[in-house]
Amino acid sequence: MNYELIKERLAPCGLHCGKCFAFEDGEIKNHSRQLKISLGNFDVYAARFVELLNEPAFKNYPAFKAMLEYLTTEGCKGCRQEKCKLFSNCKVRDCHEQQGVDFCFQCSQFPCNNTGFDAHLHKRSVDINLRMKEIGVEKYYEEVKDLPRY
Ligand code: SF4
Ligand code: SF4
Repeated sequence: MNYELIKERLAPCGLHCGKCFAFEDGEIKNHSRQLKISLGNFDVYAARFVELLNEPAFKNYPAFKAMLEYLTTEGCKGCRQEKCKLFSNCKVRDCHEQQGVDFCFQCSQFPCNNTGFDAHLHKRSVDINLRMKEIGVEKYYEEVKDLPRY
């Protein structure tokens, strides 16, 4: 994948929007929609399977279905298209435009204390950016494109 297309998937902080559960064209949303279709009217059977299969796990189907429903709702187009729905404190989104860079590692102030992230996310972003700086954006994307984000 070329640099411009990769930018649609990797946020300026380095997080992989393409693997985010909220990403409109992401694997999680697409698989969830497919699973919802495949399950059809499973509610009725889940209730029956509690006794037929003597399997209490089926009692949890309503909660599972609610989660699946949530995962199929309209998603986010990615950090560069709209404001992140997950990290409302993120300052990188606006800052990278002011700094005129695509990714934090390209910024003269990297690593900075202006991300707005908590310690966990800040470290993750710094680690990702250090790796991109080391091997380049395209090679970094190859490394992570088939890995789960979580
Ligand atoms: S911008 Fe935020 S909510 Fe949207 S896909 Fe990226 S990480 Fe997920
Ligand atoms: S100042 Fe910090 S948050 Fe802003 S682009 Fe540079 S490294 Fe990223």
